[in-house]
Amino acid sequence: MLKPVLLTLCLALLNKMNSKQTISAVRKLQFCAGHRLFKHESKCRHLHGHNYQIFLHAQSTSNISESNSYNLDQIGRVIDFSILKERFLPWIEENWDHGFIVWQGDLEAIDALRAIPEQKLFLLDSNPTAENLALYLLNQVAPKLLADTDVSIYKIVLWETENCFVEVTTA
Ligand SMILES: [Zn+2]
Repeated sequence: MLKPVLLTLCLALLNKMNSKQTISAVRKLQFCAGHRLFKHESKCRHLHGHNYQIFLHAQSTSNISESNSYNLDQIGRVIDFSILKERFLPWIEENWDHGFIVWQGDLEAIDALRAIPEQKLFLLDSNPTAENLALYLLNQVAPKLLADTDVSIYKIVLWETENCFVEVTTA
């Protein structure tokens, strides 16, 4: 019978041999936006803003060949980083950057912001926490923007401040 330490080592080695390596392409984007958190217990109930940082984690969805277990393209990429920027940055700039993001039920904030001529305003179907912004990008935005590509965004990391970030991942 194998000694416990040797058995543990053998199992670790077996796991390593069986584990499939994966590669992600990660593109960082930044934007500035205002928001407030409806019914927040403290200062986040006030209209205020952040310099947000988004990290889009992309993985290949294709099976290019059996010999290419990472599913990289012919050049050796998950996707060209510039494509992620070209797809996402215009959407971010048009919808969120230098605007206010508020919950569609936050009528006070909506009325106040609509009183300002041409104020940029994005109505979210949930309170605009970092979590909900990341979920919106993952579930609503990314599938549409990458529909004609061989990659999908499986994880969004969104930094709201230099100390606080959230991470959402597909199941
Ligand atoms: Zn905030």
